[in-house]
Amino acid sequence: MSVKTRVPCPRCGTATAFSPSNRWRPFCSERCKMIDLGDWASERYRVPVESVVADDEELEPK
Ligand SMILES: [Zn+2]
Repeated sequence: MSVKTRVPCPRCGTATAFSPSNRWRPFCSERCKMIDLGDWASERYRVPVESVVADDEELEPK
């Protein structure tokens, strides 16, 4: 029995085995998965920056 399902890696498009043995599915590798996670993580990190600056101002004694 060798049913191979292949999906294109969402990151680089490489045909990737979509099976329990591929722990990075649907990505082709850990690297592609990390890059993809990093992308949306950095998108999210942009949002709280302004609130961090506001907190810092409150800490300044006047
Ligand atoms: Zn890839």
